[in-house]
Amino acid sequence: MSSTSITRAGCSYFGVRIPRHVRRDMADLARRGYTGVLHTFSENDLAYYRGTMAEIVAISHDEGLFVQASPWGLGRTFGGEAESRWVAFHPQECQVMDDGRRVAAACLNSAAYRDFCKEWVDWVLECGVDMVFWDEPAWVVAEHVGVEDAARWTCRCERCAERFGRPIPAVLSPEVQAFRQASVVDFLRELLARVTARGGSSAICLLPATEGVVGLADWDEVAALPGLSVLVTDPYWKHWNEPAGPFVRRFARLLRDTADRHRVEAQLWVPSFGLTREDVPELEAAITAAREEGIGDLWTWGYEACRHMTHLATADGELVWEAVSRALTAAGASAERGRA
Ligand SMILES: [Zn+2]
Repeated sequence: MSSTSITRAGCSYFGVRIPRHVRRDMADLARRGYTGVLHTFSENDLAYYRGTMAEIVAISHDEGLFVQASPWGLGRTFGGEAESRWVAFHPQECQVMDDGRRVAAACLNSAAYRDFCKEWVDWVLECGVDMVFWDEPAWVVAEHVGVEDAARWTCRCERCAERFGRPIPAVLSPEVQAFRQASVVDFLRELLARVTARGGSSAICLLPATEGVVGLADWDEVAALPGLSVLVTDPYWKHWNEPAGPFVRRFARLLRDTADRHRVEAQLWVPSFGLTREDVPELEAAITAAREEGIGDLWTWGYEACRHMTHLATADGELVWEAVSRALTAAGASAERGRA
């Protein structure tokens, strides 16, 4: 285990922009033993809640919580149930599928889009967040932009062709796959440099996949990026149709090994959304597996098992929330005892 490992229990929070309600919920998180919160900073927040978000960060700090900020659904190039108006305003900067269709997701090689992401960085750092959390940066998933065929991939736009040196081939060859991955890493390098220049810190959350159209084969390239503080993954087993324990253990190990090699921290997320009472043993097994692999910085998506969001809720949300809170914050409590 890395000698600098952090023990933390964190949770994502979204959907409320009324500070007095947020204050009550942040107090609830702290009382339950959580020590961190991730607030989503969407394009909608950037446009309409600039100052409110700063207030929400301050409220979280008042409760002693470490605050992360995620670019929720930004340009549809990160995770999150939020829409992008940037892509509506800049169709010419969007990704092109292998079959030539332009889709509603910004191209990672677009200079205009990278500039927009830097504007977002400046804002979240002005809001006072402790960590910029680059959540699931990836080329777009076909079904997220209304394309039924999961085998479709991007990007064959003119900007990508320029970087590639010639038109992007229509076949997903190893050379094209390498270019796609290099583009993700280059995109992140530029964003991390901005965060560093503004005095901030960055975490990058990689999807639990090392192959396919969204996986990154080489996590070392990401872990080695200048300005990276924390390498993160979110092995949400149900989404990938995998059994929790082995799947989480496999990615916890890859995460721990990669983070240690590059002397960055390791953080892992487990889901509490979309789970029913039958899933609780698997959830607990996942958390145990992560701890056994040396990951003490554990977070869940999200507050109250997301039962306020139809798309992510289940009828058992209340029970799942109690279970995940108990499992995550136990480590926090024992760490406190260890320090005392
Ligand atoms: Zn492109």
